Amino acid sequence: MPKCSGLRADMSISLAKLLRLGPVARLSIGLVSVALALVLAAELILDALPGQASGERQMRQRYAENLAVTIAPLIEADNEALLGRILQQVVTRGGDILSTAVRRSDGTLLAERGDHALHWIAPEAGRSTDNHVRVPLNAGRTHWGDLEISFAPAGPRSVADWLRQPTVLVVVLLATLGLLLFYAYLRRALQYLDPSAVVPDRVRKAYDALGDGLLVLDQDGRIVLANRAFRKLHRDADNELQGRKASELEWLDAAMSKRDPPGAPWDEVLREQGAVADERLSISQADGGSIETVVGCSPIMDGSGRLRGCMVTFDDVSELQRTNEQLHQTMSELEASRSQIRAQNDELRLLATRDPMTGCVNRRALFENAGDLFEHAAKQGGDLCCVMTDIDYFKRFNDKYGHAVGDQVIQAVARTLLRVTRGSDVVCRYGGEEFCVILPNTSSEQAMQIAEKLRASIEESASAALRTIRVERITSSFGVASIVQGAADLEELIVQADNALYKAKEDGRNRVSLWQAPAG
Ligand code: GH3
Ligand code: MG
Ligand code: MG
Repeated sequence: MPKCSGLRADMSISLAKLLRLGPVARLSIGLVSVALALVLAAELILDALPGQASGERQMRQRYAENLAVTIAPLIEADNEALLGRILQQVVTRGGDILSTAVRRSDGTLLAERGDHALHWIAPEAGRSTDNHVRVPLNAGRTHWGDLEISFAPAGPRSVADWLRQPTVLVVVLLATLGLLLFYAYLRRALQYLDPSAVVPDRVRKAYDALGDGLLVLDQDGRIVLANRAFRKLHRDADNELQGRKASELEWLDAAMSKRDPPGAPWDEVLREQGAVADERLSISQADGGSIETVVGCSPIMDGSGRLRGCMVTFDDVSELQRTNEQLHQTMSELEASRSQIRAQNDELRLLATRDPMTGCVNRRALFENAGDLFEHAAKQGGDLCCVMTDIDYFKRFNDKYGHAVGDQVIQAVARTLLRVTRGSDVVCRYGGEEFCVILPNTSSEQAMQIAEKLRASIEESASAALRTIRVERITSSFGVASIVQGAADLEELIVQADNALYKAKEDGRNRVSLWQAPAG
């Protein structure tokens, strides 16, 4: 029957738990045992406890004396009948009286009730014992005889009787009260126990040598031990900590209240018996700064698996955090200077590849960029055209307005070329007032149209675009050559376009000419 055996196992576990007493309870039991042993020893040696027997004996004696006073007149009056009735009453109603008799001093019995011969054992030297009480009866000044009463043996006759005995009552009361008082006292006293008494000195020294702050708490969250590193976490941590609740330390509580949810991690551990690890805790300092710590908290169990407290560690990571922050700062500075360098490099590259006066690519960059475009088009069998253009009678602007205005004319023509062409086209200042435009993926017809558009735009707007002066009409001549006309490389294509340009100049300027391979 598995159900039954399960129940038995449960019961034995809870019984084991019940019998598992804490050290305070065990100490209390030990102390009560010692106290009881002392009380019982005092009773044995000095008869210090109130005895049931002596009290009962006195009562019996007094009873017998009263009876003697009652029957004395009857003996004097020789009223044996009444005497007999009274003695009978005594035996019948007396409870623990077994027999009674009146004996003359010569030993003969005047009257007896109960089986007196059976129960009466004459005490030695005429004195009474616990169960056999004798009271002398006097006639005037002479001893006439005795009243004898046999009592049932004194002492407890049942468990209840035994429990009612004063000795038992005193012992039970002493044990119960003693246990409660010792337990309460020891619990309180142990909170303030000097740790050197419970934690050996070498263990404390070992804890003090640790770099991490360490707290050992009992199951109520009271401090049993705090090592040196812990006492350095705050100005107030150097005060007396022994026996105080860790959560009641104001500076620590302030740090706890910043947690989410607020509260001490060790309270969670003491409540739920789990462990808390890597909990960030910032401890504010009196000078406005803070110590950053990582807190770990694990339960302390005794040999029988009961929670006895917990151990809390505080790892000071302020230095690490500072180093981290410095590292971040350096990283962002590095990043800033890297992007600055990148910008400067871009600028340098621009300077290296661009003509500063017009912003067009320079000759070197033309051969780098357009060389690749030419190779690509030649390999893929794609179209690519070169347009060469030269400002007509440019020398005149120089001569008439000066070199600076000549520069402005070159810039105005460059702006028009850059504006009208696409981003994928390459516009290069090839020489003084001569430009080379590479048009990728462009047929010669398209290139002729573009060149015509450029020519018209320059004629139409370049002169008006001069910044400081209005000059007469600016025009340019254009020569166009296409890759499909057989140029072996970019240089040859440029030469072909230049030849076409020469042709356009020859033909009257301000016109576009397509290169024609020489006949034959
Ligand atoms: P055309 O081309 O129509 O035959 O006549 P042109 O007057 O333009 O001919 P030429 O090539 O003889 O003149 C070019 C002049 O451009 C020569 C040179 O002094 C001038 N020049 C070259 N580079 C610059 C420059 O950067 N700035 C200025 N202002 N003038 C330059
Ligand atoms: Mg010219
Ligand atoms: Mg020229």
